[in-house]
Amino acid sequence: MNVLISACLLGVPCKYSGGSNAHPLLMEAARQGEIHFIPVCPECLGGLPIPRLPSEKQGDRVFSKSGEDLTEAFERGARSALHLARLFDCRCAILKERSPSCGFGQIYDGSFTGSLRQGDGVTAALLAQNGVRIWGESQARQALTEWGAFALAGEA
Ligand code: SF4
Repeated sequence: MNVLISACLLGVPCKYSGGSNAHPLLMEAARQGEIHFIPVCPECLGGLPIPRLPSEKQGDRVFSKSGEDLTEAFERGARSALHLARLFDCRCAILKERSPSCGFGQIYDGSFTGSLRQGDGVTAALLAQNGVRIWGESQARQALTEWGAFALAGEA
C-alpha cells in the first residue's frame, strides 16, 4: 500500500526553519515497511528554498511573513504532489497538520500569531479534491490501524 506523506514527518529537514517534524511512530512504520510511504514536501517541490520565511494562507492566497505572495509556488508544489500521488496510486495521505501546504481542516489564520482557522493547505485541498483521503499526524495510530499495520499501531 502506497501512502503519500509530508517528508518533514519522516525527519527530512525541509520545514521553513531548516528543521523537521520527525514523528517516531511514522518513522518506525517506514522502517518496518508495512506501509510504503511516498515522501513529498510541496513547498520544496514548488521551488521554495530551505530555510525560508514562514508562510500562511490569507484567503485563497499564500504570503510569506514579509508579505511576498507565494501562491504560485505553493500551487506548483501541490500539482507535483498530486502527480506523485497518482503515479504511485496513493489513495491516502498523512500530512503535517496546520501547514499552509499540508494542513487539513485547520490551518494558521494568516496573522502569524499562532492562531488557527478552519481551512485546508493548498496541497491538502488539491489532494482531497482528487479523492485522496487525508490524515493528520495526530491520527497516525488510527491511520496505521486502518491501513492494517496492526502490530505497529498497538505499540506504546
Ligand atoms: S510543506 Fe509540508 S512537507 Fe514541506 S515542510 Fe511544510 S509541512 Fe512539511
